[in-house]
Amino acid sequence: MKAAILTEQGSLDHLHYGDRPDPSPARGEVLVRVKACSLNRVDLFGVLGQKGVRLRCPRILGRDFAGEVAGLGEDTGGDFQPGDQVLVYPHVSCGHCEPCRRGRDNQCVRARVVGVTSDGGLAELACVPLDSVYRLPPNLSFEEGASVPTTFVTAWHMLVRRARLQPGEDVLVMAAGSGVGSAAIQIARRLGARVFATAGSDEKLALARELGAEHAINYQTEDFSLRVLDLTGGRGVDIIIDHVGASLWDKNFASLAVGGRLVNCGVSGGHRMELHMGQLFTRQLSILGSTMGTRADVQDVLRLIERGEIRPKVARAFPLSEARRAFETMAASDFFGKLVVVP
Ligand SMILES: [Zn+2]
Repeated sequence: MKAAILTEQGSLDHLHYGDRPDPSPARGEVLVRVKACSLNRVDLFGVLGQKGVRLRCPRILGRDFAGEVAGLGEDTGGDFQPGDQVLVYPHVSCGHCEPCRRGRDNQCVRARVVGVTSDGGLAELACVPLDSVYRLPPNLSFEEGASVPTTFVTAWHMLVRRARLQPGEDVLVMAAGSGVGSAAIQIARRLGARVFATAGSDEKLALARELGAEHAINYQTEDFSLRVLDLTGGRGVDIIIDHVGASLWDKNFASLAVGGRLVNCGVSGGHRMELHMGQLFTRQLSILGSTMGTRADVQDVLRLIERGEIRPKVARAFPLSEARRAFETMAASDFFGKLVVVP
């Protein structure tokens, strides 16, 4: 099969398009013929060896993908047949540890991640654990299906489980053009929130409005914090969905209403900040960390997508032979939604 293979971490020069033996499914695994694989920023950090992402190389990256069942290993039950259209949710829990038994499988202490601890979807074929395989909603293309797992489930978990969003609340979504951002705008709106979003270009601001943001703020040309306070009559927002981290911390902190919750799922803009604990307790703020989501979250997201209430946004597609160009585009951040690689 053809694959994009990372031979060592450090730079995109180590990402090679070439041939690998076809994998065959082990016990409990499903062989997927990949039709589309989306990129996440964490994949870029994996290539570059940044933000603490460690990989054993050679490795085929690609956590989120969609395709057709091409084979089934032993003990995979009868739920799937060859030819079924599926998508892969990459976080695979053990099902036995204490967090798993309590239904918090995203906190599994023995979790594996497809495309990180085993080969992923930047290839024509991939073997994945049965537990990571879900039916592709019939109203989605493979490219859209590949754009669902990490971003939508992460955004859902942040808004619903961590921040416990209530209808009518104000939500500020940072970097609307990102995968998590474009998902969070739609989910928050669907759940009855008023959504504010930030982005770095007028084109992205227009797309953020199209997805449901009532106010879109250009963080390049104005102080988003002052604008948010202005738009909320000085009150601030109830929830901030942030994956940028330290570089936005002061402005985010100033944008929170009393009782506000900031949920963070990424640190592309730095990971250390200074916290004014006096304000933390007197304003009764919550700072919450979040990563990925549970199987229940995956099911919730897929149900809303099947009903057409939320929909992934594909920015651009690249052939597998040009996977490197997809990573370069990711690094330049000049796109809205998800970048997809098609074998
Ligand atoms: Zn577990």
